Amino acid sequence: MDKLDRIVAEARMAREKRETTYRDRALQIYPWICGRCAREFDRTSLQMLTVHHRDHNHDNNPPDGSNWELLCLYCHDNEHSRYSEQTGRDGPTPGGEKITPDTFKPFAGLDALLKNRK
Ligand SMILES: [Zn+2]
Ligand SMILES: [Zn+2]
Repeated sequence: MDKLDRIVAEARMAREKRETTYRDRALQIYPWICGRCAREFDRTSLQMLTVHHRDHNHDNNPPDGSNWELLCLYCHDNEHSRYSEQTGRDGPTPGGEKITPDTFKPFAGLDALLKNRK
């Protein structure tokens, strides 16, 4: 029990550490302004500012920050729903951000089924 708890805790910590690392780095490189709506942030509102990955791949974290963009929570949400609308029809993008990976394939299969019936 204790051992499992520790493994789970360690895995979570490793993930949080990785996320904190690139977030900290992005906040050092970029001004605290949303890249879409230009809203400004300070220490008290900083938790509303998120780090977006331009290529939607969370594992692609170049130290120069070229894959990061600071977005407020709302614009970040928009960015992601726009992204899934654009790519949803063509199936998953390799190496893409895995938001809802399982929703893509059933739709693709349904599409093929409908075509076969006609
Ligand atoms: Zn914004
Ligand atoms: Zn994002």
